[in-house]
Amino acid sequence: MNDLLPGEIERWQLLEATIRRVVALHGYREIRTPIVEPTPLFVRSVGEGTDIVDKEMYSFVFHDEPLTLRPEGTAGVVRAYVEHGLHTKEPVSRLFYTGAMFRGERPARGRYRQFYQAGCEVFGDAGPVVDAEMIDMLVGLLREVGVEKVTVLLNSLGSGDVKLRYAVALQNHMSGFGDALSDDSKRRCWTNPLRILDSKSPKDAEAIATAPSILEFLSDEDKDHFEHVQALLVALGTPYVVEPRLVRGLDYYTRTLFELRGEGGELGAQNALGGGGRYDKLVSELGGPATPGIGFGLGLERILLAMPQNKIETTPSVFLAPMGERATRQSLTIARSLREAGVVTHLEGRGSKLGSMLKRASGLGARLAIIIGDTELEKREAVVRDLAQSLQVEVPFAELVSVVTAKLGRPAVQGAP
Ligand code: AMP
Repeated sequence: MNDLLPGEIERWQLLEATIRRVVALHGYREIRTPIVEPTPLFVRSVGEGTDIVDKEMYSFVFHDEPLTLRPEGTAGVVRAYVEHGLHTKEPVSRLFYTGAMFRGERPARGRYRQFYQAGCEVFGDAGPVVDAEMIDMLVGLLREVGVEKVTVLLNSLGSGDVKLRYAVALQNHMSGFGDALSDDSKRRCWTNPLRILDSKSPKDAEAIATAPSILEFLSDEDKDHFEHVQALLVALGTPYVVEPRLVRGLDYYTRTLFELRGEGGELGAQNALGGGGRYDKLVSELGGPATPGIGFGLGLERILLAMPQNKIETTPSVFLAPMGERATRQSLTIARSLREAGVVTHLEGRGSKLGSMLKRASGLGARLAIIIGDTELEKREAVVRDLAQSLQVEVPFAELVSVVTAKLGRPAVQGAP
C-alpha cells in the first residue's frame, strides 16, 4: 500500500482528469459505492475458486456480519444498480467509478495491495456496438495520456453452458499431462480449469499451447456477436489480437472479453493496464432482472508506470512577502483578492527576512513575489518582482489583481491545487 505524495500526485491528477473527461464524452455518469461490502457479494460474483476470493480478500467479521474491502469495482456497482432499481429509471445505464481496491497479492512493481482502478459499466445493452465502442474508448484514452504502445487482446467466453463444456474439455486435456503440470495447475484442474491458461509456469507451457480453443465451443449466436465486435473494431481502425487463451481471473464474464497490455516506460512484468468484458448474467445472479452488462477496470498505477515522464506544468503562482506586522495584515487582504481572482497565492506569515522569503518563493516555484514593507504601505503600493527575470515594478494596491493576472498570462486555472 502506497502513500501518494505531492510531487507525484500531479501525474495522478492529470490521468484522473483525462479519464473523467473521456468517459463523460461517452455519456458515462459517476457512481460512488462503499469500499466495504458484504463478503458474499464478492464470493457470488467474482466466484469461488478464483485467486481473488480464495486467497486475496481483506475480509473480517464486524458485529457478526462478514465484510470485505472491495477487491474490484463491478460487484458493488451491480449491487447498487439492483438495490436502487436503476433499470426502472432508464433503459440503458452508463456508469463510471474510480477508487481504491484491495487484494492481498504478493507485492511487486505494478502490483500492490491497495491499488486504484477506474472503470465503467453499461447495463441494458447486449451489444456488440457497445463492446467495440468501449474498447475503442480505452485505446483512445490511453493514447491521450501518452500510452501509445498498447495491444488489445480479445476473446469470447460464449454464453449458456459454453464455459462449462469448455472447462470439461480442458480438464480432460490437462489431466493427460498428469504429474508434468505445476502443483497450482494440478489443483486448478479440479477447482477452476480455465485458470490454468493464466499459468506462467514453464511446466504448464506445453499443456497450454496444445489446449483446445474456447472459440470452437461457441454457439452460432455467440460467434455472430464476436464477429460483429471484430468487424466494428476493424471499421474503427482499432487494432486487436484474438487470443483464445485469454480468460482473466473473474468468474462472471460471458461473451466478449478483453485486456489491454502495455509495454515500455517503467512497466515491468505486470503489463496488463486494464481489462473487462461482458457479464450478461451477473445482474440476475445478484437478484436483479435479466439485464445484460459489460464493463472494464483500468489499473491506474500501471498506466502511470507506462506514461511518459513529461514534466507536468504547475499552475503559476504568486508569493506574498510582507515585512512587519502591518504589512502582513495588508497582505492577508491582498491574498484573498488574488485567490478570488483564481491566482494560486502563497502568503508568508512567519515574519521572515526578505532574503529567506525570496528563497522560499523560488523553492515553491512561484512566478512572482509581491513585497510589501513600510515604505510601500505608506504609498499604498507593492513591489511586484518577476522571480525568473529579477525585474521589479511598483504597483498600486488597487491595481495588483489586474497587473498580476496579466503578468501570469491567464486569470485562473480551474482545479488548481
Ligand atoms: P481486474 O480487476 O483483475 O480485471 O484488473 C484490472 C486491472 O487492474 C489490471 O489490468 C491491472 O491494471 C489492475 N490491477 C489488478 N490488480 C492489481 C494490483 N494488485 N495492483 C495494481 N494494479 C492491479
